[in-house]
Amino acid sequence: MNLNENFQKLPGSYLFSEVAHRLAAYQAEHPEAKMIKLGIGDVTRPLVPAVIDAMHAAVEEMAHAETFKGYGPEQGYEFLRAAIAEHDFAQRGVDIQADEIFISDGAKSDCGNIVDLFSADNRVAVCDPVYTVYLDSNVMSGRAGEYDPQTGKWSNIYYMPTTSENGFVPALPTEPVDLIYICSPGNPTGTVLTREQLKVWVDYANSTGAIILFDAAYERFVVEENVPHTIFEVEGAKTCAIEFRSFSKTAGFTGARCGCTVIPKALVRDGVSLHAMWNRRQTTKFNGASYIIQKGAAAIYTPEGERQIMENIAYYQRNAKVIRDGLQNCGIQVYGAVNSPYIWAKIPEGMGGSWDFFDKLLKEANVVTTPGAGFGPSGEGYIRLTAFGDAEATKEAVARIERLLKN
Ligand SMILES: *Cc1c(COP(=O)(O)O)cnc(C)c1O
Repeated sequence: MNLNENFQKLPGSYLFSEVAHRLAAYQAEHPEAKMIKLGIGDVTRPLVPAVIDAMHAAVEEMAHAETFKGYGPEQGYEFLRAAIAEHDFAQRGVDIQADEIFISDGAKSDCGNIVDLFSADNRVAVCDPVYTVYLDSNVMSGRAGEYDPQTGKWSNIYYMPTTSENGFVPALPTEPVDLIYICSPGNPTGTVLTREQLKVWVDYANSTGAIILFDAAYERFVVEENVPHTIFEVEGAKTCAIEFRSFSKTAGFTGARCGCTVIPKALVRDGVSLHAMWNRRQTTKFNGASYIIQKGAAAIYTPEGERQIMENIAYYQRNAKVIRDGLQNCGIQVYGAVNSPYIWAKIPEGMGGSWDFFDKLLKEANVVTTPGAGFGPSGEGYIRLTAFGDAEATKEAVARIERLLKN
């Protein structure tokens, strides 16, 4: 027998293990140091009361034969699909039907699984720096080619640099591509594409037949008018895009697990419906998200649930502003942080590369960040900070960085 040799090509999750390794080494030498982590990509605020109440009630239903739920629909319960269609789409003037929404246990699995639908010879385009799930899932399914440790790139992947030089707006490909991953608001840069900028991509995909895989995991953080919350706000997107959505960053479901994938019925290639293909895939390989969790997720669409989750988002947004203002006070160029919990900071001249600056903040401010280079070659020269921490700790971390860098 032969194993899937593509797994052997993966270079290993170097970034977060190396961060953890450097942190542990420093702490072993300085056990008294009070470290503050501004590197985490996980939320810290608890689930809101409306969600907890709904989950408790659902647990109680499970306790009685009359209300017990066994297997649910693989595509998700109608109550949640309808709530999403109404609140996330209809109320934004977007026509997405409930049955175009597939509930799942989160966006990461769907982003990883969607590659099942596509031929192994499709050319994949990703932004650089990037959320590595898009890359690694294509490596595993044989679409990435070979990894070059010198350049940090895969031979068959088309990289679209997003840096301060191009305002973090990827340029249209100069070679044919089939699958285009776009994340807006983005991870790791925290930057966004406006409606007009996204329209360029939708028009491009419709004219070439490419498909856009749009990750909207951070849409609840959008505050600016001209930034879409869903790609389907852009005219023409229903014939060229699939959207991944998540309750993780929106409502603190990173541990509870719930998300959805939107595939319009109008998305057809070679006469084949992508919606029908995904439905076939899900009914074969997935048995639905937990009823209890779906009940909890639906509660964020009640007036009090909505108000409560927006309070948590406001909490993170205040942290983002504290970090952004503090770094700017030190003369650092800062991107993201407005429509996003991520702050993408340009390392000042003379302070070395991503890992040098990471080490400096680790050792001299006792603040843990994430080196931009870990997200792709074009992330070199930046670090990522996140607004998901405790508010007091965030203020303290920023004060330490200011003491270190302001002179
Ligand atoms: C956190 C995150 C997600 C959400 O993943 P879940 O599996 O829903 O928790 C998706 N995409 C990006 C870019 C993320 O950072």
